[in-house]
Amino acid sequence: MASLQSVTHWADETDVLICGYGLAGVTAAIEAHDLDPGADVLILEKMPEAWAGGNSRVSGQSLLISKNKEALKSYQRAMSQPNPIPEDMLDAWAERMVTLEPYIEARAAEVGATYLHGTGWSERGVVLEFPELGAAEAVAHTATILPVPSGVWLAFKANVEKRSRIRKRFETRVLDLIQDPDTLEVFGVVAEISGERRYIRARRGVVMCTGGFENNLDMHRNYFGLSQAHPLGTPGNTGDGLRILQKAGADMWHLRNQGQSGGIWPGFRFPGKDTVFLRQLFWQTFSWIDVGRDDQRFFDETWEWQLTHYKMKSHGEWIDTPHHRVLPIHMIFDETTRVHNPLITKVMTWNAVVENYPWSDDNSAEVAKGWIVRADSIEELATKIGRNPIELTVTVRKYNEACAKGIDEEFGRSKETLYAIDKPPYYAIEIVPAIVCTGGGARRNIESEVLTPEGGKIPRLYEAGELGSMFSSLYQNGSHLTEAMISGRAAGRNAVQQGMRK
Ligand SMILES: Cc1cc2nc3c(=O)[nH]c(=O)nc-3n(C[C@H](O)[C@H](O)[C@H](O)COP(=O)(O)OP(=O)(O)OC[C@H]3O[C@@H](n4cnc5c(N)ncnc54)[C@H](O)[C@@H]3O)c2cc1C
Repeated sequence: MASLQSVTHWADETDVLICGYGLAGVTAAIEAHDLDPGADVLILEKMPEAWAGGNSRVSGQSLLISKNKEALKSYQRAMSQPNPIPEDMLDAWAERMVTLEPYIEARAAEVGATYLHGTGWSERGVVLEFPELGAAEAVAHTATILPVPSGVWLAFKANVEKRSRIRKRFETRVLDLIQDPDTLEVFGVVAEISGERRYIRARRGVVMCTGGFENNLDMHRNYFGLSQAHPLGTPGNTGDGLRILQKAGADMWHLRNQGQSGGIWPGFRFPGKDTVFLRQLFWQTFSWIDVGRDDQRFFDETWEWQLTHYKMKSHGEWIDTPHHRVLPIHMIFDETTRVHNPLITKVMTWNAVVENYPWSDDNSAEVAKGWIVRADSIEELATKIGRNPIELTVTVRKYNEACAKGIDEEFGRSKETLYAIDKPPYYAIEIVPAIVCTGGGARRNIESEVLTPEGGKIPRLYEAGELGSMFSSLYQNGSHLTEAMISGRAAGRNAVQQGMRK
């Protein structure tokens, strides 16, 4: 923390200061503005304007809508079972969830955007992720806002742009909080602007919503238990908020949420790219397998793992699919799969949505770049990717025999997806573990007030969204974006209602 003594000059000042321009940040700004249209609201964002929007902008835009408070509480309680959420928080969250939909519809309507009940992969029937824990009772439906991609984010951003008293500063990285060292009361932030340390004053309160630590490998290793993980979302989420809140005297929670979070997804990483592509979720052809470190298959590749956020059930428990334990992994496929559909998912992720990388429909451009390795035989392919030619040939042969029989005795892959890998040339692409989001951060209450290890509140400090998320274990599709709204609204409301400091 920095103390007031270190402030030589306020470079800017506002009533409510919001750090991070994702969905939690914009929701906090809208709420603070609407409750007191006379209040000054300023959002600080480390990325340039063209790259702003965080994970919110590149997410699947699926929103969980519930209408049954008790069923939702029970479902969330069951999903959080190994690390229980405080009951009073669960109760208030569920209450806010079941009344959230009209608020979202109003935000869409205000800017002329279309609100949709259930669409594509977010249809209710396919997002009841953990049925035995009570999904069917808890989930009324899912929803989104058009257009695809980014619709929810775009509608909320347009709401901010309509409110002229909300200012934004891009390329402004928050470094630290300015606090009273005795009471921990927050007066503002230290930020890096054009390489200089600057002080920005918050007359009423500071809201921290700088996202997670998806792009910080060191934090993954130390907090998350993953030795190799790569972001599907923004490269800007480097865990800055965690460091800042630790220094501010906050208690930390939900950090080691491996086996929880949003799962470990199959990604593709290439030189010069900070973030990873997401492998195609919507296959139209199936002449492909994945092989792990020992050149063997290791799971049912074509089950729709996105429906359970890449969790599989083992001995009655939902755990991560094995990708991160069997590295390196290659996907092996033939010409039929190569020409049939692009290897990546285009409706979400940073590379597809923000960088707008034009992945070729038949993957030929990526073969030409060398991102996908081609060979005339499986033996040659194995040699080119550093694998044992005999082992890989046997693995492919065994798989092709399973296709001929129509039964995958090893991993139970469904008959409809058993297509032989038999049309040369053959291809390989490396798969890396990719993550949707992290959830740890400062412990907070349902009013988004940041708590100390002793349970006290840090005066004038709030936290919202994925940073310090309430979810401690399994994550139901669509509940991170709605949590960003609920916690963002609470943070904006409570910050703006603080008395103004002289
Ligand atoms: C591919 C993908 C798909 C997903 N699909 C869904 C879905 O369908 N439904 C769902 O509910 N959730 C989904 N999620 C999760 C969801 O997107 C996030 O949990 C949510 O968007 C988090 O919102 P946020 O505002 O907390 O953080 P973000 O939207 O990530 O915003 C954080 C912002 O803070 C900025 N920042 C970071 N450090 C600083 C700093 N020091 N100073 C200033 N600014 C800083 C970042 O640049 C960023 O703009 C998905 C995520 C991904 C990546």
